[in-house]
Amino acid sequence: MDGLDLSTTNEIAQRIQNIPITKGEIIELIKKYDSKSLCTISKIIRDSCKNGPITYSRKVFINLINLCRDTCSYCTYKKELSDINLSILTKDQAIHIARLGKRLKCTEALIVTGERPEQKYPEFKEWLKKYDCSSTTEYIEQISNLILEETGLLPHTNAGTLNYDELSVLKKSNVSLGCMLETASDRLSGKNMPHEFAPSKNPKARIRVLENAGKLKIPITTGLLIGIGESLEEIIDSLIVIREINQKYGNIQEIIMQNHVPKSNTKMRNFLPPSHDLFLLTISLARIIMPYMNIQVPPNLSPNLYSTYINAGINDWGGISPLTIDFVNPESPWPDIKDVKHATEKAGYRFRGRLAIYPEFLLSKRDFIPKNLWNYITPLSDSSGLVKEEIN
Ligand code: SF4
Repeated sequence: MDGLDLSTTNEIAQRIQNIPITKGEIIELIKKYDSKSLCTISKIIRDSCKNGPITYSRKVFINLINLCRDTCSYCTYKKELSDINLSILTKDQAIHIARLGKRLKCTEALIVTGERPEQKYPEFKEWLKKYDCSSTTEYIEQISNLILEETGLLPHTNAGTLNYDELSVLKKSNVSLGCMLETASDRLSGKNMPHEFAPSKNPKARIRVLENAGKLKIPITTGLLIGIGESLEEIIDSLIVIREINQKYGNIQEIIMQNHVPKSNTKMRNFLPPSHDLFLLTISLARIIMPYMNIQVPPNLSPNLYSTYINAGINDWGGISPLTIDFVNPESPWPDIKDVKHATEKAGYRFRGRLAIYPEFLLSKRDFIPKNLWNYITPLSDSSGLVKEEIN
């Protein structure tokens, strides 16, 4: 494998921006050039196609219900009814967190639940009845509306494989939704693989969510979990699947490239995390495959690598909370927002707050946003579609 001279790098970057790269061409690039060279190409593409600031979303993490019907071999988010860290938030508790977040200038309420807990836990199904709900989605709808009305924070829900009707209900109160593809490989749902006991992680189920969100014109966040046993070719296939959905519906608002951090109390505790080199390669491939996409790396899963990720072509740091922990990765504290700002500016880029919905939807895909949500979006956003600078 070779390094690249500057003129060749510019030439390749220019071509990729104009014509979507094929799988064969990607494999050729990987064979020919090392990850450092591909990161250089990726950075040039980012500077050309996403030449605004590097963004983040100031959020609160509302850990609404951490029961889950499924079991993934790497997960510590899911809890059992007897667990000391079980979270089933009442409306008052959820609103309290959102209010505290508002005081700390947050603009996003990230609402997270496990996969359809009511299907596995009759006690929880019974609990939902006190709010006249028969499903987790109905409860999320109530919570989202309350947060909007009481605080003006913009809800963004990640509740797994919502069906078409559920998506259409949550569209009315959520400016965007989230559903990680993680991988498009069926192989990882096979025997002894991480998704063996998680039917909701079957790629077909996840792709259906992304496509239904597309049909409903819902901006959606997705992404890959890197280092759970997939091959590099499967990573490329997964990114191409996301590109195809976005080409058809235009609804993918960002791709999170998340490195798997093995946790001691899981089945995958002895699994090796992805190497630094492989992870950087996958970030560069995400940008090379989707030049105009918002590409994010969570800043808390491998701290102090800010300039490295910026130089690999990302343009977003995702949600960072000044209040709540990352309940999916509780062992990885959020960095101080001031430190991320400092590192971003030191790398030569502006650092700005964005909403839970990306500027392109506010500026040129306005038909993705239900009329009622503009009442909450407009007071928070400026003419560039980012959060007004006086807010955060
Ligand atoms: S579906 Fe989500 S919450 Fe449930 S076990 Fe898998 S990763 Fe954990």
